[in-house]
Amino acid sequence: MDTLERNQASRPRHISAEEWAVRVDLAAAYRLIRHFGWDDLILTHNSARVPGTTDQFLINPMGLMFDEITASNLIKIDVEGNQVEPSEYEPNYAGFVIHSAIYLGRPDVNCVIHTHTEADIAVGALEEGLLPLSQWAMRFYNRLGYHDYEGVSLDLDERERLQASIGEHPVLVLRNHGLLATGRNVAEAFSHTYHFERSAAAQLKIQAAAAAGARIVVPPVETCERQAALFANSGNTPRLGGQREWPALLRLVEKLDPGFRA
Ligand SMILES: [Zn+2]
Repeated sequence: MDTLERNQASRPRHISAEEWAVRVDLAAAYRLIRHFGWDDLILTHNSARVPGTTDQFLINPMGLMFDEITASNLIKIDVEGNQVEPSEYEPNYAGFVIHSAIYLGRPDVNCVIHTHTEADIAVGALEEGLLPLSQWAMRFYNRLGYHDYEGVSLDLDERERLQASIGEHPVLVLRNHGLLATGRNVAEAFSHTYHFERSAAAQLKIQAAAAAGARIVVPPVETCERQAALFANSGNTPRLGGQREWPALLRLVEKLDPGFRA
């Protein structure tokens, strides 16, 4: 059975093949976030737009750990916060506010990954934010939004400010809070998350060394810009945008626990 057949094998009849494929990818992303240690108990939330809709998205049920998320227990809500299909679970309200802001403001985005990690919070708390100090960070050079902390996102009027803060960027740094990485699909949003986390962790080590007296080498501005443009213009090619590694990541999740496909 190939990956595509395996993805569809457990699909309930009332869910389209397209939606089920997105559910499987999103459930895999939850398992990967847990695997890499970027989860935060039952908090934080990741979502994907329901294929063929502009106003509906899939998100985790409040109360489950990320290794309990499956393709079928993701809940479907609209940008008004209504549950589209009955579920025994509720969404995280702050999750609804943050994710609906992005889906309303960015028709090109089909997946949003939100993390709270020590590295992304630490870098987001620095006035200068993420610096181009590693190859991981190059794709984000002059291509990051920053959003000042307003407390837990429970006010609907923060949506407009979140939209203004992210602009057309792929990733939004939520200062003192975490990260919001978007993508045209789950693979791309995961790739942005991965590269930001590695960039942030490396930067903090470099800055710790600098604080102890080491001198930092920073690549020339032109090099950083050229690399960032290369990633921005890569399109949805098999080589870039996270597409190349996604099948391998799915195999990793399969080995961890194939139950995510249920
Ligand atoms: Zn959060």
